Amino acid sequence: MADFDEASGALAAIGRRFDERGWVLGTSGNLSTVIARTPLRMAITRSGAHKGTLAPADILELDDTGAIVRGGPGGPSAETALHVEIVASRGAGAVMHTHSIWATLLSDRAATQGGLAIEGYEMLKGLAGVRTHEHREWIPVLENDQDMVRLSGVVRRVLLEHHDCHGFLLRRHGLYTWGATLQDAVRHVEILEFLLESVGRAR
Ligand SMILES: [Zn+2]
Repeated sequence: MADFDEASGALAAIGRRFDERGWVLGTSGNLSTVIARTPLRMAITRSGAHKGTLAPADILELDDTGAIVRGGPGGPSAETALHVEIVASRGAGAVMHTHSIWATLLSDRAATQGGLAIEGYEMLKGLAGVRTHEHREWIPVLENDQDMVRLSGVVRRVLLEHHDCHGFLLRRHGLYTWGATLQDAVRHVEILEFLLESVGRAR
């Protein structure tokens, strides 16, 4: 597990890569990784920071309530509560949130069905535990909400209900995914963004 400085450098590098792909434009998105389990400590991008140009001051250290224990000035992302919820619900080592065009479009299209099924793609095998392209991945779509306490409760319920999903979409907003490690979480962003774009273009 990385220490805070290593985690900050890693999140900055990931931010640059995601920005190059157009997944975190206009200071959107947020990235976090767990740096200690007991007590829980997370490194996360601060609110309003552009992910393509993250500096050390743009990364904050949080505890399990989302309170800042190191870093600043500047508050944590408004969506910190969702990161904390996903770490708690999934035991994730890192959580990634992107705002791509395809996630935005498909989340709206699939909202009335409550989610989106993707199957038959070789790239599905990049998701943890998936061994075959015949896997059917269900990506739940949640209604967007500015009330993060309420939305965290919805996330908790959806993650319980869909215990094997690798990510979810917020409607007209973006993608959340996670992984056991930072590398796994980054891979899941790449895999899911690839799949969403493939499905979107095919339609
Ligand atoms: Zn967002």
